[in-house]
Amino acid sequence: MGSLRIYPGEVNMTKIAIYPGSFDPVTYGHLDIIKRALKIFDKVIVAVAHNAEKEPLFDVPERVELLRRSLKGLKRAEVDDFEGLVVNYVKRKKANVVIRGLRMISDFEYEFQMALTNRKLCSSVETIFMMPSESYSYLSSKLIKEAAALGANIKAFVPVFVAKAVKEKLG
Ligand code: ADP
Repeated sequence: MGSLRIYPGEVNMTKIAIYPGSFDPVTYGHLDIIKRALKIFDKVIVAVAHNAEKEPLFDVPERVELLRRSLKGLKRAEVDDFEGLVVNYVKRKKANVVIRGLRMISDFEYEFQMALTNRKLCSSVETIFMMPSESYSYLSSKLIKEAAALGANIKAFVPVFVAKAVKEKLG
């Protein structure tokens, strides 16, 4: 059996994970992943990307605000926004883990490509995939926006103030 060695500098190190995405808008699926990540990491930084989606419903400050309201009370979760490469942002934040959510097999191909590309760009950054509760595994921001535009009540999928904001945006 190997002996357990603790190196100076390894003790009390804060484990930070970055959860990047569009979050246009945040859904219960995203919140489920954030809560799961908080069980493993000391701090989770939810990072809204400026360049992920071409025609978002909400601008970045609005998406940040909806996330902040949704995460109120979760002290170890932080919300930020970033431009450019995820790996550069991760390094700037002195983290080395990226969290991504995997809903179904259909997410896998794109996520796999992205994780391996990020690894090529920066070998010290690891991507960790997490699965949401099965009750959220079909949820996507895109679907919610489409359903809301057709008049659906989306309160089962997003916090009530997010549902209200979506309704207001869609007029
Ligand atoms: P992106 O445009 O980067 O895919 P999203 O906001 O759509 O941004 O999603 C951010 C991350 O959250 C992605 O890893 C995505 O797979 C994941 N995600 C989105 N919806 C869900 C959900 N319902 N359950 C679990 N993970 C999800």
